[in-house]
Amino acid sequence: MTATEKAVNETPSTPASNFIREIIAEDLKNNKHNGRVATRFPPEPNGYLHIGHAKSICLNFGIAKENQMGVCHLRFDDTNPSKEEVEYVDSIQEDVKWLGFDWQTHLYYASDYFEQMYQYAVELIKLGKAFVCDLNQQQMREYRGTLTEPGKNSPYRDRSVEENLDLFERMRAGEFEEGQKVLRAKIDMSSPNLNMRDPVIYRILKAHHHRTGDKWCIYPMYDYAHCLSDSIEKITHSICTLEFEDHRPLYDWVLDELNVECHPQQIEFARLNISHTVLSKRKLLELVKQGYVSGWTDPRMPTISGLRRRGYTPAALRNFCEKIGVAKRESMVEIALLEHTLREDLNLNALRVMGVLNPLKVIIDNYPDDQEEELDAVNNPENAEAGNRKVPFSQVIYIEQDDFKEEPPKGFFRLSPGKEVRLKHAYYITCVGVEKNDQGEVVAVHCTYDPETKGGWSKDQRMVKGTLHWVSAKHAVDAEVRLYDHLFSKTNPNEEKEGVDYKSYLNPNSLQVLTGCKLEPSLANAPLGQPYQFLRQGYFCLDPDSTAEKLVFNRTVALKDTWAKVEKKGK
Ligand code: ATP
Ligand code: MG
Repeated sequence: MTATEKAVNETPSTPASNFIREIIAEDLKNNKHNGRVATRFPPEPNGYLHIGHAKSICLNFGIAKENQMGVCHLRFDDTNPSKEEVEYVDSIQEDVKWLGFDWQTHLYYASDYFEQMYQYAVELIKLGKAFVCDLNQQQMREYRGTLTEPGKNSPYRDRSVEENLDLFERMRAGEFEEGQKVLRAKIDMSSPNLNMRDPVIYRILKAHHHRTGDKWCIYPMYDYAHCLSDSIEKITHSICTLEFEDHRPLYDWVLDELNVECHPQQIEFARLNISHTVLSKRKLLELVKQGYVSGWTDPRMPTISGLRRRGYTPAALRNFCEKIGVAKRESMVEIALLEHTLREDLNLNALRVMGVLNPLKVIIDNYPDDQEEELDAVNNPENAEAGNRKVPFSQVIYIEQDDFKEEPPKGFFRLSPGKEVRLKHAYYITCVGVEKNDQGEVVAVHCTYDPETKGGWSKDQRMVKGTLHWVSAKHAVDAEVRLYDHLFSKTNPNEEKEGVDYKSYLNPNSLQVLTGCKLEPSLANAPLGQPYQFLRQGYFCLDPDSTAEKLVFNRTVALKDTWAKVEKKGK
């Protein structure tokens, strides 16, 4: 069974155990942290969060929620001032909240610990465990060795404690230029783990920081800052993605050498990969900066804010994260599973409405032209509490162009000359003629209706195979509708062949804009965030680009579920 197949068999309502939940249960049993469970979600504010982050958020905040004395901190890992922006800090908080999680009072910034981290570095120097090194990047690379060859000691490795303390203080004071000096941990240049070959723990960066301003010109490296931030916050379980497995010895080394009070346990899990998309912040930033998408919140982006705008619900994303589970081995999840999970939620919660995307005018010849009526329509057959609404009907309506064919192929049960169909919630109509333009294209269809079929049913129970959605022309509201497809055509756009960039796999048809769509009038007041099912078309939601003059709707996902097909193929 593949990871995605296994996932779909597990229901989200009963959280399945996983190796992380087991570790925590065992620690609680042994009273390892006096009943405490403290996790953290530590984003670097250098981009918007994506669905991979949602997996980490659900895991970390989920664990906190599941445990009586559980807390989860939101910590901005803001140690690299050159790439970080306040816009990202704000969007990250909004996204975590929207997903349904709460850090309570536990909002932290690694930059708040800069002074403490500096003092810890001084302590390492005093212990003879760190030194100031003058090698430049190129030289450092040469000295580092390779996977098969040990590295060489830096000629600066044996500087005295006094000299190191003096140089480090002067680094802080701004006496040296970027790249001139770094502080390195003194570990082992012949370690088989390259991360342990005297890694750099501080570098000079003369950049303005979004919180500390120009106070600092030396900044701690991730591996050094992360373990200390965890320790300062008294995290019990530091859960991160698999690529940090090789960094764990360094995480532990720093905390052991400094003999800190709290030494959290780092646990790694496999990051989420999804087909037809990229989840690297570098690549997503590139798509934004180079204008391949309209921004971080473009509804085709796998960002949480893009998915929200597209019409994804927090429950759908949480259910998805629960379904895919947590494992130690990398795998790729089919985007069809994400869409399947979305439909499950929308099917229960979306209001059913009618909207015609490619309108064709239908004139009902025997319906009085001055008559109007309001027909009853159910809002959600899955949820009686959603109630009913009235839909106006009149002589001229719109139907979908695809729902009419002058010369119907075999098996076409929609409208064609002489054929009778049902209008949803309304009447049976029969096509009696067409109007054409000079090019011979059908521009309007003439029909008659049977007044005895109000509500869409006939007393004689005659067979009517097709049921069409429609909108009264007089009452319709105009809208632009944006249809989306996967951002990438290739299943795995990260699999770059030589000389071929992932961007060449972008799907040229990922966005299709329809204008002049006709929607039932109840949609004139659609609020943002309300999911709708346009009957027979899919799920839709209002886009924030909408104005009083112009409504814009996004198609969240089409009705047709491709997941069953994917699942069958995998078996
Ligand atoms: P990128 O590698 O794309 O730059 P990142 O991992 O550096 O992303 P961070 O802001 O450091 O981004 O991520 C915050 C947390 O989210 C980390 O703990 C990281 O392990 C986790 N995370 C990031 N991407 C994924 C993913 N695809 N699946 C699961 N967790 C992820
Ligand atoms: Mg990172």
